Amino acid sequence: MVLERCSIMVNGKVCPYPPSHIVSVQLEKEEYMIGLVCSKHILLMKQKAISLQKLGKITNGKINFQKIKPVMTDCVLNLKK
Ligand SMILES: [Zn+2]
Repeated sequence: MVLERCSIMVNGKVCPYPPSHIVSVQLEKEEYMIGLVCSKHILLMKQKAISLQKLGKITNGKINFQKIKPVMTDCVLNLKK
């Protein structure tokens, strides 16, 4: 799975937007990362994850979306000075 991009495919192409959330499945105390998603595709990703769970392809647990912290902001600001 490509980790620098949104994991959603649109019409056979990988979504071009940068990811904004980490998608993971939580089962009791274990949490498994299943991909990244941009803010436009959160709902779509949730539906996809649920269907993958029904197919038994991923762990059957609670689907979590965690916002990616903008760690690059300081670097960008420093470059502009
Ligand atoms: Zn996307």
